[in-house]
Amino acid sequence: MVKKQFKTESKRLLDLMINSIYTNREIFLRELISNASDALDKRYYLSLTDETKKVDKELLKISIEKDEEARTLTIKDTGIGMTKNELEENLGTIARSGSLEFKQELDKADANIDIIGQFGVGFYSAFMVAKKVEVISRSIDDEKGYIWESSGEDGYTITKYDTDEIGTKIILHLKDDTNDDNYSSFLDPYKIEELIKKYSDYVRYPIEMMVTTSKLKEGSDSEYEDVEELKVLNSMVPLWKKNKNEITKEEYSEFYKSTFNDWEDPLDEIHYSLEGNISYTALLYIPSKKPFDFYNSDYEAGLRLYSSGVFIMDKANDLIPDYFRFVKGIIDSDDLSLNISREILQQDRQVRLLANSIQRRIKTHLENMIENDRESYEKLFDNFGLNLKYGIYQDFGAHIDTLKDLILFKSSKEDKYVSLKEYVERKPEDQKVIYYVTGDSIEDIKKSPQMEKLIEKEIEVLYFMEDVDEFAITMMRAYNDIEFKSVNKGDFDLESEEEKKVIEEKTKENKSLLDAMKDSLTNYVTDVRVSSRLVNNPVCLVSDDGLSIEMEKVLSQSPNNMGMKANKILEINPNHEIFETLVNVYESDPELIKEYAKVLYDQALLIEGLPIENPIDYSNKVIDLMIKAVK
Ligand code: ADP
Repeated sequence: MVKKQFKTESKRLLDLMINSIYTNREIFLRELISNASDALDKRYYLSLTDETKKVDKELLKISIEKDEEARTLTIKDTGIGMTKNELEENLGTIARSGSLEFKQELDKADANIDIIGQFGVGFYSAFMVAKKVEVISRSIDDEKGYIWESSGEDGYTITKYDTDEIGTKIILHLKDDTNDDNYSSFLDPYKIEELIKKYSDYVRYPIEMMVTTSKLKEGSDSEYEDVEELKVLNSMVPLWKKNKNEITKEEYSEFYKSTFNDWEDPLDEIHYSLEGNISYTALLYIPSKKPFDFYNSDYEAGLRLYSSGVFIMDKANDLIPDYFRFVKGIIDSDDLSLNISREILQQDRQVRLLANSIQRRIKTHLENMIENDRESYEKLFDNFGLNLKYGIYQDFGAHIDTLKDLILFKSSKEDKYVSLKEYVERKPEDQKVIYYVTGDSIEDIKKSPQMEKLIEKEIEVLYFMEDVDEFAITMMRAYNDIEFKSVNKGDFDLESEEEKKVIEEKTKENKSLLDAMKDSLTNYVTDVRVSSRLVNNPVCLVSDDGLSIEMEKVLSQSPNNMGMKANKILEINPNHEIFETLVNVYESDPELIKEYAKVLYDQALLIEGLPIENPIDYSNKVIDLMIKAVK
């Protein structure tokens, strides 16, 4: 028999599982039962939508069998089953779209269990407790069954296997006990029952097992005998149908983890039922960590959709707007047809009502979080804030009203997060604009020359540290009619009358110097002027009120860059010694001022973190000037 090898990435994962660095091994049962439950969902759905695939609902179940002697634990379901091909595809490789990223993450030397969690590699967790796994499966579309066998690292085989039953049976040959690990405990009926109660109670199909109970002997009132009987171990009530105040935080978490393949507790959940134009129950979750493929184009968002408790589809992405795509969850509505397909989903009126209602609920929930659970919201924002900001920019600003109170920025007031609403509420009455500054990091921003005046005057400035920030705000134009003002752009209106006068005078006095500098920089700047925003720094670059320098930087990296440029202005600090030097140089040698202008311009670029056109030329000019200085 030919043994096939696992694909490389699966192999790495198997290694991790076999040598299981993860201590919480018992979750293998939750993972396998969750797969079984999905398979039953699929079969039941078919049975309702396809005449030829009818099945008696009573037949749909999961059975657990244990054999102490053989040391095997078997999880059997009467679900949709797998064909030979599916066994190969699903169990021979990591059957998820993220497999490439997964591989890349694994290749990083310190691959850890967190990564595994994010990928929901359910089936492989069997190898945490089993030295050998057999999967016997017959697909609903197949006459025959197959058996897939593997002892882990050495690959797997698939062979024909006679079976009448549609569904899947997973036989785990448990590892041998060691001093540290008691794998036999997974054969203990009490342990199994405990695990099922803990992790899989709300699975909507019965999970059955033969158990031995002590019962009064017939006809006796004191003598007991052991009786073997089939017991359903789970309560079968879907969690979302339960009453909110009967559900513990743990139950919400366990359900989330088993359903959405996350190993971490969710950050928050939103659970509600609505009756009205459209009636439905929603159980939504906000993950506590960003899936690391979240911003990849093949990341699949969407909610799991049920109609009256019957599973319809996974990842229905029309139910949730793009900017909330980090939300995971379940929607169960009595008002949807079972036959709804992905195509219909987009056009269906009911679905649109549903989607609008969900969107509003999430929005309100997040707004409440900002007010009442700030710490969690800031965590959410650290993970998904970028997505919300993109939302402002998307669709020509159509979602601004929904999102404007959900975005936060760090600000110069203690470097903490602030919402636009809070900023506006606490700004001085006579401040007419919302100030922002662009930069790569808080440290850089604090050092940036354009911030000097604002820091001196203790004016709160929002930090824009992500590419999308300025684009989003440009789309918004204003927040509740209060306009945004970049500290890197246009005129400032912060100076006192006296300061204004000084600047006007200096400008007038040195008109020909400034003009000469401007002339020598015609290809680079639209103006050279006396600055009102600098305190200690000699020069800085700003732009006019159009495209900003930061936006130019971002656009230049985009693949469809159209070469849009910001109109740059070189500003010189009139109170800095350099200004006097310039005046003197211009008087004694008007030609030399060209060199100075170019050097100052390059320095301003460097301060901005922008590349200079010709570093060698720059360096030579500086050397020249140094030599001249002592001659
Ligand atoms: P995931 O469940 O996250 O997709 P798994 O590794 O647990 O990843 O399973 C891979 C695939 O194998 C599943 O998506 C499903 O198609 C198939 N599968 C697993 N267990 C069963 C089962 N009991 N019945 C039918 N198909 C199954």
